[in-house]
Amino acid sequence: MSQNGSVEHRTQPQVPPSAKEDTAPMPSLPTLMHSLRVSPKIDHKPDSYEDLPLEFSHLLFSSLEQHLPLHMLNTSREAKIQYLRNIVHRYLPDSERIRVQRHKEYRQRILMNYPPLHKEIYAMHAENFFVSSFLQAIRDNKEDSFRSIVAEPTKGIYTFEMLQPHFCEMLASEVEHFERWVHETKFRIMRPNTMNQYGAVLDDFGLETMLGKLMNDFIRPMARVFFADIGGSTLDSHHGFVVEYGINRDVELGFHVDDSEVTLNVCLGKHFSGGELFFRGVRCDEHVNTETLQEEIFDYCHVPGRAVLHCGRHRHGARATTSGNRINLILWCRSSAFRELKKYQTTFPSWCGECKRKKKERERTSIAATKQELLKREVRSSS
Ligand SMILES: [Zn+2]
Repeated sequence: MSQNGSVEHRTQPQVPPSAKEDTAPMPSLPTLMHSLRVSPKIDHKPDSYEDLPLEFSHLLFSSLEQHLPLHMLNTSREAKIQYLRNIVHRYLPDSERIRVQRHKEYRQRILMNYPPLHKEIYAMHAENFFVSSFLQAIRDNKEDSFRSIVAEPTKGIYTFEMLQPHFCEMLASEVEHFERWVHETKFRIMRPNTMNQYGAVLDDFGLETMLGKLMNDFIRPMARVFFADIGGSTLDSHHGFVVEYGINRDVELGFHVDDSEVTLNVCLGKHFSGGELFFRGVRCDEHVNTETLQEEIFDYCHVPGRAVLHCGRHRHGARATTSGNRINLILWCRSSAFRELKKYQTTFPSWCGECKRKKKERERTSIAATKQELLKREVRSSS
């Protein structure tokens, strides 16, 4: 857990813990009548499925659409989704299909039973959520505007004023209300990730649509500018949760990397001391446990309402919250396109600090060798 030990991968837990689900009926197998055409109809423009609550990336559906049988191409979006879904389910491994189905049922059970406290935070009301400087920069949607509101205290870490105090309070009290409901009903909930014992997944109790909009309309425009090399412009799914630190909560968070391309972390408050974030350089999978360079050491103190935006592969952890309670909103933003491309990458990634260091070292060695060779030739020709 220490920053000198090995780096953990903070990931989403997989299967919701409910005895009931073990006996849940599986959806019937799709009929073999459903099939795709091998060659795509290239001049057909696929629909956008971005706004629909789908269990797979909407890009998967858009990209498969051109392979639909001709009579399906101009049917309704719903008909196309139903058709494609049948096919996707047929090819998914059973375990993955079961996991997706169980998670869907788990969410439905919460949504049917949990009564929200602040209904107004379940849809995006930008003017009520964000501070005006942030709103203006998003409206301008230009690199200069984003740069004018952010501080970049160390390479690749951006901080900026983001949430209004009133919104922070409402979100924090909504989470508290949800936790109380969980306690009273003895509902067994999934924690947000494999490293936190406390906190809640906001997507699981109704905030998925609002957080999806937060990523699409507010975070992706910034990530397109600041994280272009790690999939920032193609972010297409998210995992939104809160973590809670302090007395009777998690105390600290070990050294780790996130299961995200870009992570948004905003402190919601309120009164606490300690809890600083420590960052120690960006690393690829292969180099995740390599040493930190002096210039990569950076510590950050949370300020309520202020956001930190960083690459998911930026190694980090949180020091102990020594008094009071601290609650943070975290949004893991992912890009399926970037993850797919990464599988075929044969060269070292440009964003890893260690890869960069190694490349420089190789260049230095090669220049030194060339110099040596030239000098030798000089000596030979002059003697
Ligand atoms: Zn590397």
